[in-house]
Amino acid sequence: MEYIGHGNREIAERILPPGDRAARMRNLKRVAISGRAARECINISYGFFTPLEGFMCRDEVDSVCLDMTLPDGTLWPIPIVLDVDQKVIRDQRLAAGEEVLLTLDEKSLALMEVDEVFTYDPMRMAEAVLGTKDERHPGVKMMLGLANSYIGGKVTLVNEPVFQPPFDRFWYTPKRLHELFKEKGWSRIVAHQTRNVPHSGHEWLMKGAWFAANGELSVEQLHTGILVSCIIGPKRIGDYIDEAIVLCHDQLRRSGYFREDVHLVSIALWDMRYAGPREAVFHAILRTNLGCSHHMFGRDHAGVGSYYDPYDAHRIFDRFGQENLRIKPIRVLEWWYCPVCGEVTYSGLCAHEDVKQSFSGTLVRSMLTDRMKPAKAIFRPEIYELVMECANQYGFGSPFCTEEYLASRGPVYTLPD
Ligand SMILES: [Zn+2]
Repeated sequence: MEYIGHGNREIAERILPPGDRAARMRNLKRVAISGRAARECINISYGFFTPLEGFMCRDEVDSVCLDMTLPDGTLWPIPIVLDVDQKVIRDQRLAAGEEVLLTLDEKSLALMEVDEVFTYDPMRMAEAVLGTKDERHPGVKMMLGLANSYIGGKVTLVNEPVFQPPFDRFWYTPKRLHELFKEKGWSRIVAHQTRNVPHSGHEWLMKGAWFAANGELSVEQLHTGILVSCIIGPKRIGDYIDEAIVLCHDQLRRSGYFREDVHLVSIALWDMRYAGPREAVFHAILRTNLGCSHHMFGRDHAGVGSYYDPYDAHRIFDRFGQENLRIKPIRVLEWWYCPVCGEVTYSGLCAHEDVKQSFSGTLVRSMLTDRMKPAKAIFRPEIYELVMECANQYGFGSPFCTEEYLASRGPVYTLPD
């Protein structure tokens, strides 16, 4: 079985066999890392970030910022860095050439061969990747919040994360997904990136992308699947709770809105940078590594506020060919509800612009908050029932993140001792 990922590179897992762990970890300096860095370390180790084998060194960060490529020319839009406080570097005397143990909440996570200890101007990184220095942009805020030094080098996982219910059912490594797609006989797989509980607009985005991905295939050749790839990362007040996102997407298939043999829900750990076009390219790379052949991009993909034109994330793909990117972008406009057509329809087709009803996240949210059941055309009744069940079971009464949820929610994954 071949596991080919981004840059036509083989997906390689970097995980130390359990029997070798104790001996290799003995006497290593321990470096505590953040939840974000741990998520990225896990991604590197399982091949989600192929061809990366570790956290970037200075020349790699520079190349990514300036040219949107790794030094060898492989397309790569976002720096993947391990930030460490200068004080820790000084106190621990961290230097190139040594091996250290990365830890999360006192638990061992990964070995790292330190190739370089360096500094980098976070504002320079933010401006190159996000196209703005505005500190109100959440990606700028995040980059400015990084510790003031970085260490670059290869990582190898020594402690595999154990995903907790309900996430355990949706956790697949890139290799496992490649295998699953083969088992299912899917010849084309279209990725849908989400951080939302699905309303009919989302459902039709997926259905439209599925039609587009089928393209010229004959009925006999039709083996196109949809991978719903839910982004799991830090949450903000008012976001949908993670449990509702994964379970409600899964429910669309369980309730028959998608056939059993065309739809699969999975999770991917990632801290959104809201980098608009650059992040769209990153998502395309991530899903290439998951084995997808197509990736759907809607309006304002990975955007925030009005920093990017709603279709910047579409246009950026004009710059790349198959030699840069294996996955094909499917660029879609808006789906809306039209009372004249009497159905959910496509902005590229329906001419009743003056009466159309856009799917407004804000409207759906306010209805859910008030426990008002939205119309069937807007929200599937099974999804409404389930989102309310999730609110009670996981959300302390709300389907949206509250202070209480953020403080007391169950962990997505744990590290065994
Ligand atoms: Zn219409």
